[in-house]
Amino acid sequence: MSSRKRTALIFEISKTGRRAIDLPASDVPQEDVETMVPAKFLRKTAAALPEVSQQDLMRHYTGLSERNFGVDSGFYPLGSCTMKYNPKINEDVCRLPGFAAVHPLQSEETVQGALELLSNVQEYLAEISGMDAVTTQPAAGAHGELTGLKVIRAYHRHRSEHRTKVIVPDSAHGTNPASAMVAGLEIVEIKSNPDGSVDLEALKAAVGPDTAALMLTNPSTLGLFETTICEIAQIVHAAGGLLYYDGANANAIMGITRPGDMGFDVIHFNLHKTFSTPHGGGGPGSGPIGVKRELIPFLPVPVIVCDAGKFRLEEDRPLSIGRMHSFYGNFGVIVRAYAYVRAMGPAGLKQSSEDAVLNANYVLNQLRQDFHAPFTQLCKHECIVTSKNQKPYGIHTLDIAKRLLDYGYHPPTIYFPLIVEEAIMIEPTETESKETLDRFIAVMRRIAQEAKENASLVTSAPKTTVVGRLDEAAAARKPIVKWKG
Ligand SMILES: *Cc1c(COP(=O)(O)O)cnc(C)c1O
Repeated sequence: MSSRKRTALIFEISKTGRRAIDLPASDVPQEDVETMVPAKFLRKTAAALPEVSQQDLMRHYTGLSERNFGVDSGFYPLGSCTMKYNPKINEDVCRLPGFAAVHPLQSEETVQGALELLSNVQEYLAEISGMDAVTTQPAAGAHGELTGLKVIRAYHRHRSEHRTKVIVPDSAHGTNPASAMVAGLEIVEIKSNPDGSVDLEALKAAVGPDTAALMLTNPSTLGLFETTICEIAQIVHAAGGLLYYDGANANAIMGITRPGDMGFDVIHFNLHKTFSTPHGGGGPGSGPIGVKRELIPFLPVPVIVCDAGKFRLEEDRPLSIGRMHSFYGNFGVIVRAYAYVRAMGPAGLKQSSEDAVLNANYVLNQLRQDFHAPFTQLCKHECIVTSKNQKPYGIHTLDIAKRLLDYGYHPPTIYFPLIVEEAIMIEPTETESKETLDRFIAVMRRIAQEAKENASLVTSAPKTTVVGRLDEAAAARKPIVKWKG
């Protein structure tokens, strides 16, 4: 095939930026190609690119996509990750040309609608969380944590206070201590009570004049609400520290209670968890943070402000921690969250929290008969069981997760939180039907039965997947990332 027939991708520089046009090269006069590309760089012969038919190519990629598993293909109860259904209206909305084709370098006057949308999302999130101001810049929950901790550091420094320690319960998500470390703070870990709650005595012993903040997830990563949250806030504030809310579990409380009302000073939301934007595979996320009034001056720039109905980006904020993301964050994700909040409304958001909690308690209670449940209290949006009852048959949590693959389920989160031995952490989400939950429960019970009667079925799983059981340690330590050596 000659290079003239090949598809040429030509960039046209227009006033609004670069626009990619897909044109068959035959439509482009050869002289144009030559004036655009200096002669010395032009090929004499066609590049030896491998070629297959369009149909074979299509089958190849469709085949690969069918090996993938997502919320659109089946039940995906990955605790702490919130793999809920992402309404397709969100996709329609974020693909509207006015949103999808907006260029980050456009002038403020030409992106008034986009700025208004961002500003509205910030207001909604502030209202939902009980905070005074929100920025949508951070690109994920962990990035929100880093941003929030930098804001907290800047606040203490501004008050000439030398506070360097962040208190983190032992049930915390790994990103909490990691973010504290990256923010240049020291980590003080405190043990949880046997019932999973924060140990108030341990907290009292840990706080002091060097406490910068306590990072807390509520409900915790155990799926349990911290009923002493007001006392916790009081202890930390009395010591001069601030409270950071990890909002990854906001699915359980949205529309019911607000971190701002519990005493938190800084929060992040994971839009890709709570606000129904797709995630997984490292795809774009969004982790907006919200702060109380005293912390507003330290938020990252630019800040969207509205003067007499006109939106602009304000850079001149002397106390700001600076920029945390290019432009205004992952815009497409924020547009999806906007569509979700607008479609649900306040009553819908509350209902979704209630349904998430109901579903998790239903699953927990049905599984209690066959699986050990380490906590007796009601759970919130996710629940934990373990493989303790299956241990006498030589079955571990990993085996149960692998066997679930044979039944067509994405396994729940396993071995997290770290403080529960052989944890199986199930988050059904509010978007699953009772029929789906009943099928999953029946399969879990069947695996418990298999464990008793035919343990090798479970220990040798999975049998129906493209690859069998992998050496996970080797896969992590010695990954083969190149085709053919
Ligand atoms: C997912 C999660 C995080 C990190 O969020 P990312 O968006 O993945 O960076 C932090 N804390 C908890 C409890 C989480 O579940």
